Amino acid sequence: MNDSELISVLSRRGIRPTQQRIAVYKYLLTHPEHPSADTIYRALVEEYPVFSRTTIYNSLGALIEAGLVRQVNICADEQRFDATVTDHGHFFCKECGKVYDFGFDSPAMVSRLCPRGFIKEQGDVFFTGICKHCYSF
Ligand SMILES: [Zn+2]
Ligand SMILES: [Zn+2]
Repeated sequence: MNDSELISVLSRRGIRPTQQRIAVYKYLLTHPEHPSADTIYRALVEEYPVFSRTTIYNSLGALIEAGLVRQVNICADEQRFDATVTDHGHFFCKECGKVYDFGFDSPAMVSRLCPRGFIKEQGDVFFTGICKHCYSF
């Protein structure tokens, strides 16, 4: 997505497309390893020295409220963020700390997991372990 597409996505969701929000959203879209707010801050402050940690938190808050970003509470010590808001699972690697996405093979499977009569708003399954990049003989 280029900047004008990002601007229209944010506008369509009813939030003002500020430079900070666009930068944070773009970072999340291009870094699918589910960065923390601090990682996003440290990456963006190089390009935008006026950004602060508060700027990043506020932008994330607005993007979450607009339904463009979700929190991933898989790591005990820090919150991670994700620009993929459709149902999917997360695998947390204890070695490298990265969070990987995996898809559900069918929407029917998600429906089966949800208790009968409950209304699901968001689907997620958490695995923890060691990723293939860290696992070696
Ligand atoms: Zn790993
Ligand atoms: Zn994810």
